[in-house]
Amino acid sequence: MASEDHVDVLIVGAGPAGMMMSAWMARCGIKTRIVDKRGTKIFNGQADGLQSRTLEIFDSFGFADRAWLESNHMLEICFWNPDANGNIARSGRIPDSIPGISRFQQVVLNQGRIERFFLDMIAKESSIHVERGVLPTSLQFDESKAEDISPDSYPITVTLRHLTEEEATPKQTATAANGVSVSDGLFRSNLAPDDTADMIRAAELNAKANTVETVHAKYMLGADGAHSWVRRELGFTLEGEQTDYVWGVLDIVPITDFPDIRMRCAIHSADSGSVMVIPRENKLVRLYIQLSTTEKNADGSSTGRVDRSKINPEMILKAANKIMAPYKLTYRRMDWWTAYQIGQRVGSNFSAKQRIFLAGDAVHTHSPKAGQGMNVSMQDTFNLGWKIASVLKGTADRSILKTYDVERGNVAHDLIKFDHKFSRLFSGRPAKDLMDEEGISLDEFKEAFAKGNMFASGIAVNYGASHIVAKAPEADDRDANGINGVNKVTVQSRQELATGVKIGMRMPSFKVLNQSDARPWHFQQLLPSNGSWRVVLFAGDLTLPGRRADFDAVSAELAKPTSFLKRFTPSTGRYDSVIDVLTVHYGHRQEHTVLDFPEVLRPFDEVDGWDYNKIFVDEESYHEGNGEAYKNYGIDPTQGATVILRPDQYVSYVGPVADYASLDRFFSGFMIEQK
Ligand code: FAD
Repeated sequence: MASEDHVDVLIVGAGPAGMMMSAWMARCGIKTRIVDKRGTKIFNGQADGLQSRTLEIFDSFGFADRAWLESNHMLEICFWNPDANGNIARSGRIPDSIPGISRFQQVVLNQGRIERFFLDMIAKESSIHVERGVLPTSLQFDESKAEDISPDSYPITVTLRHLTEEEATPKQTATAANGVSVSDGLFRSNLAPDDTADMIRAAELNAKANTVETVHAKYMLGADGAHSWVRRELGFTLEGEQTDYVWGVLDIVPITDFPDIRMRCAIHSADSGSVMVIPRENKLVRLYIQLSTTEKNADGSSTGRVDRSKINPEMILKAANKIMAPYKLTYRRMDWWTAYQIGQRVGSNFSAKQRIFLAGDAVHTHSPKAGQGMNVSMQDTFNLGWKIASVLKGTADRSILKTYDVERGNVAHDLIKFDHKFSRLFSGRPAKDLMDEEGISLDEFKEAFAKGNMFASGIAVNYGASHIVAKAPEADDRDANGINGVNKVTVQSRQELATGVKIGMRMPSFKVLNQSDARPWHFQQLLPSNGSWRVVLFAGDLTLPGRRADFDAVSAELAKPTSFLKRFTPSTGRYDSVIDVLTVHYGHRQEHTVLDFPEVLRPFDEVDGWDYNKIFVDEESYHEGNGEAYKNYGIDPTQGATVILRPDQYVSYVGPVADYASLDRFFSGFMIEQK
């Protein structure tokens, strides 16, 4: 008889999107299972670029340092275009990451290593582990129970099948020269020395072979890639178009006389197509090479279908040499290769009744050249994880889940728009002269690239108005599923009090000093991903009487047993487990001691004593300069401001320090009073 299990969250797919979801579940202590049909994680190839924003997110989970150290850092983009003789020549350079937008710049590291960092973090912080060689075979969703939050209600029932090792191992291509999607080296890379445990787990699969079990879940995530089984079971589709652009990808250690091979390069040849060069870790270089291999109709027009039989590493390299002539390119070592046709599609739905969610490639596919796929996929579940965790813990009501569909639906649509433009510019032929309207002008390309860099950094994401983003709705705030009522703003923000802290965007980071020990911290380091909301009191200059009075007044309100801090925090939870209050004042640290600050802002714990990590000051440090946080955040020290941050570091609200009532009203809009 099939065994049965009950879980809070079932995740299908252990790629980047599934891993990020597991990281949240591990941090928030949610009973979770994650299954993947493959017998092992991936080891090389696939995605490689990590955006600035993704590194900030990794830092909030404690492993950005690993990615930062191991990766290759991309600092400059070089543009190569045909010169007057038709030979390619360097025509310009720009910084790869826009200076000053983040404390991290874009880096490159293979997806297998990134998955490894997640696995290590999840294993350290929870008992969740990826069950490999397991896949769902049936799904039942009782929609009538979608809004039922009683503890014993499990609206989702899934049958899982445990595969044999043979079944769980993807079929390899016979040689590297045949097929297009999986290289011989995919599961045998020497770049990932610490993956043995995964291999052993795969070997153990036989013991469970042919077993079937029934899993009852409260929530489910389909993070099962572009061919998503979950999406198909729900009857949802990917909508959009397939282009005629076909690209080959080679991960090689190149031997070449091309001088910029260790720079990111966009190379446009006169008539032979384009190459994108991505320098990577371990001397590897990834080349994206434009191929013209779509099948032709009798009249010579393209059918839009790829002639796969013609694609192999040799022909991709040949195409690269033609584009990069007169420079020559060869290799002794190839790590991975593939080919793809650009398709730009977005899912028709991001969730079924906010119980079964889709994320990552399961809801958006596009060209990989802008390095977006893995980043946007992880950021989908970075948006979703804390919301599901707080609903399951009973601290927030289900209405916050609707914001996932809307917020990430908008990002997916923006991504497709960006990719559409980027792909056309990259795949297009360079203009021969000013009159050549069909060609792409160098200036147009360079300008689009520079603008695109802001989008590509992940920092530009700006969530629309809702009850958890208190800003005025804009005309283009879109509701991804046509759900009415998402955009109900409950309080009025005062953006002008902190002009550098944009409501809807992620909190920027500048250094502040700890009041009690003078240590400098990047502000984002004070915002670990643990599921807590933050109220940040930028108290201003507390030597000014007005500032001190406002600060004391709001502190007194916070300390009352009826304050939102107390009402929404379970009696068994730590004082900062639901809402964490941080203070950043302005002025001279030495004129104050931590004990001058109201106790509610540096709470006392019977075991741990006073909390010394809640009060900070904007002042010059001894060794790491002056973060000038007030100036950079656009806050006037004679006025101050209060900022509310979501658990994912996005800004919800900006208002005056004295306005306690707005804070209370904001949290009362979606939080659940605890008994
Ligand atoms: P995936 O990484 O696809 O993960 C999905 C997971 O779900 C997989 O582990 C799969 O085994 C599992 N799964 C699938 N179906 C089931 C099922 N029914 N049951 C259980 N498990 C299931 N992006 C770039 O930025 N640059 C690149 O060069 C690049 N190259 C790529 C090449 C290939 C061949 C592919 C497939 C993708 C490439 N991408 C690239 C895209 C990038 O890898 C994806 O955008 C990113 O991995 C998406 O993450 P995800 O977690 O949504 O999906």
